[in-house]
Amino acid sequence: MNRIHLDYNATTPLRPEAREALLGAVDGGLGNASSVHGAGRRGRAAVDEARERVAAALEVPEDSVVFTSGGTESNNLAIFGALRAGPADMCLVTSTIEHAAVQGPALHLESRSREVRWIGVDAQGALDLDALGAAVAGRPALVSVMGANNEIGSTTDLREVRARIGEDGVFHSDVVQLLGKKHLDLTGSGVDLASLSAHKVGGPIGVGVLFRRPGAPIAPTTFGGSQEAELRPGTENVPAIAAAAVAIELAVKETEAFQRETSRLTALLWDGLRSKVPGMSLNGPPIEDPTRLPNTVNVSAPAGDARTLVARLDLAGLEVSAGSACASGSLEPSHVLSALAIDPERARSGLRLSLGKASLEQDIHTCVERLGRTLGGAP
Ligand code: PLP
Repeated sequence: MNRIHLDYNATTPLRPEAREALLGAVDGGLGNASSVHGAGRRGRAAVDEARERVAAALEVPEDSVVFTSGGTESNNLAIFGALRAGPADMCLVTSTIEHAAVQGPALHLESRSREVRWIGVDAQGALDLDALGAAVAGRPALVSVMGANNEIGSTTDLREVRARIGEDGVFHSDVVQLLGKKHLDLTGSGVDLASLSAHKVGGPIGVGVLFRRPGAPIAPTTFGGSQEAELRPGTENVPAIAAAAVAIELAVKETEAFQRETSRLTALLWDGLRSKVPGMSLNGPPIEDPTRLPNTVNVSAPAGDARTLVARLDLAGLEVSAGSACASGSLEPSHVLSALAIDPERARSGLRLSLGKASLEQDIHTCVERLGRTLGGAP
């Protein structure tokens, strides 16, 4: 039985071009990029070239690109770093559907008596912008809201968020799931800080970028080296950085094609599922909503607990997830689905299917058939 993988929001396969860059750097005798000898200078040149490529692809200045170990670190650095650079009474304003890599820091800060204001979403995951505007009014604030949700595919109009915050607030966005899936305009969106991760776009796991608008207020949160403008001390992972740059460059270049093909396939998928499985509901924005992520479909079947269903589907050769991969060990319903104010049973049965560059129309037909059969055979 061929296995159908529909969990590309969790991670993506390494692109051949990124693999080539990775292995070329591993085998190329590159030294510690901080060393002054020839090998060190070659390592430094590889990091410089990667920074140039990422900056050109994202159309941002080179000194705005800070390499990190991935989306989680970028989010932590942005949040804790911006608060360290701000006044002591700066509050954090964030949404109820953030990834754990933003929600976790926010909960930690709240437990340490930092004021955190949680902004809700509507039944389809759209941020309550009026509540956001009210939350920041008249106080120093760091706003951290995601560009695109990894579970339900809702997106946020970042320009609109900036308009509500005004010029004074500091604005961070986790755009890990937006990169390569929809047009990403970091400069025009008005963000001060933005997090990206290479492994969501065909780069290696364990490397990412923090975009920092030149002059954006942020202080380091780790110490012990001058790398990455002292914001991210530690010897650079040169091979991973070189490969990340190649992956990010290609993902940006291919965004339109990715969007076109995956939105066609997700429409087919949803059509197939709702005709095959009675009572199936879609969580998040409607399929035809042009603002949604093109590759992400979150559905609830009346058959009950999603985690049991994921295991049964795995046996049927279908790889999907319940909520985000990071929360997959938990028995609680996804905090994202719970935040949509949908029926708790529906939240508990939410399944995420996310398509990738390699997804084929035949995969969609096979998925619909296997899901239908598995659910039909449910006790
Ligand atoms: N933010 C979002 C929206 C994500 O989907 C993920 C990955 O699941 C992350 C952050 C974490 O990125 P990383 O795996 O590179 O730490």
